[in-house]
Amino acid sequence: MDSLSSPVEMFFFPFVGGGHQIPMIDMARMFAAHGAKCTIVATPKHALSFRESILRDQRSGHRIFIETLSLPDNIDLANTDMTASALTDTSMLQEPLTKLLLQRKPDCIVHDMFHHWAVGAIDNLELNISRIVFNGNGCFAGCIRYNVTKFRPHETVDSKYEPFVVPELPDRIELTPSQMPVPAFQFVEDKMLKATDNCYGVVVNSFYELEPAYVEQSRKANKAWIVGPVSLYNRNIADKAERGKKAAVDEQSILSWLHSKEPESVLYISFGSVGRLSPAQILEIAYGLQASNQPFIWVVGTVFNGEETWFPTGFEEKIKESEQGLIINGWAPQLLILEHRSIGGFMTHCGWNSVLEGVSCGVPMITWPKFADQFYNEKLVTDVLKVGVKVGSLDWLTWNMESQRTVGRDKVEAAVKRLMGGGEEGVEMRNKAKLVGEMAKKAVEEGGSSYKDVICLINELEDRRKRSRPDV
Ligand code: UDP
Repeated sequence: MDSLSSPVEMFFFPFVGGGHQIPMIDMARMFAAHGAKCTIVATPKHALSFRESILRDQRSGHRIFIETLSLPDNIDLANTDMTASALTDTSMLQEPLTKLLLQRKPDCIVHDMFHHWAVGAIDNLELNISRIVFNGNGCFAGCIRYNVTKFRPHETVDSKYEPFVVPELPDRIELTPSQMPVPAFQFVEDKMLKATDNCYGVVVNSFYELEPAYVEQSRKANKAWIVGPVSLYNRNIADKAERGKKAAVDEQSILSWLHSKEPESVLYISFGSVGRLSPAQILEIAYGLQASNQPFIWVVGTVFNGEETWFPTGFEEKIKESEQGLIINGWAPQLLILEHRSIGGFMTHCGWNSVLEGVSCGVPMITWPKFADQFYNEKLVTDVLKVGVKVGSLDWLTWNMESQRTVGRDKVEAAVKRLMGGGEEGVEMRNKAKLVGEMAKKAVEEGGSSYKDVICLINELEDRRKRSRPDV
């Protein structure tokens, strides 16, 4: 750990939703553990979801604090809870944030790029606060986004399912136009790129060894500190179990169920903090899982149409009786589950946090992307790292758009058997995943690449302060 006397003061301004808020909280805690004074800026409601972990860090002597921004009485961003999207307008936070920055003048503010208004609002203050962007993606996805925006290769093919090659990447990566953001969302991609205009740099939740060529390519566009996987900062059970939200099931019952299973035999299934499936899709997954005979933990999130009976008749009773599966209705303690030795595979929507968490735990994946950067992340997992198999998801849909095409039970069963059935290909992927998992852990340990980048940013901010604000 670096010197606790570091005068550097860092503000972290996360977005108001799970997949973006969770890693930024971990990141702030990590920088505080390395000696920076860190303040997380949040709405009162959102602060509640991570307050306990911050109190635990404070008791360990870390200089980490929460600063809440008051909202006008009639505005309740809390309604968004964990389902805040890229379209959620947070601009009502501009006034209280500006006030706070004028008062405190931190050395830097790391802000989520989904606070679209923050770019101009912070830069226009001319307080010499280094503005650092967090966009929640890895470098691989960032490079794809940059290159498809610049070269528009998807416009050169005739049909939405015809593959095109993304130009000027270190690997040959093919996508189809159907896997690109729908037009209504293209502006989010553009904003993502714009957020880094004139920024001091970007912090990335990834690690150098995972995607070295893409880190190098990203660094040509911006200064970038690669400081993850930040989830590895959660070392005790309480931190892992309460990350983001209180779990719907108590962790002990999940752990004892997992203890009863063979090592690497259980498939963990989750579609992230906001993903939804149609009742028809849930039915196909259920039949596919049943046919695969593989033990599983399935986190069933929100379902379209609010229909109640989406499982096949008798499914829940059958899997309970046979102990084949555990269904979690609601939030799961994902980190605790993934790191258990009985987990042998992760069926994931390829949200970047989930991919990194799977990678950090050395778990191979079945990829089922749906929106955002998830199709790009799938390519990293299956085509570059070769630690996963695709289920065959083809259409980019927002979290709240219902797919017109379900992935059939046969495809689900085939993917599960390919990864978990004991065949040579699955074993090879598992071995590779374990190696990548070891690299991830090394990256955040003392002397590792991410550890060094954390120190490097703190030192740089310290130098910058000495040079430009010798009075502070
Ligand atoms: N998560 C969790 N329990 C759940 C669902 C999600 O702990 O039941 C966490 C997961 O560990 C990850 C984050 O929520 O850190 C989801 O982020 P990701 O980027 O994977 O997907 P998103 O939710 O943004 O689509």
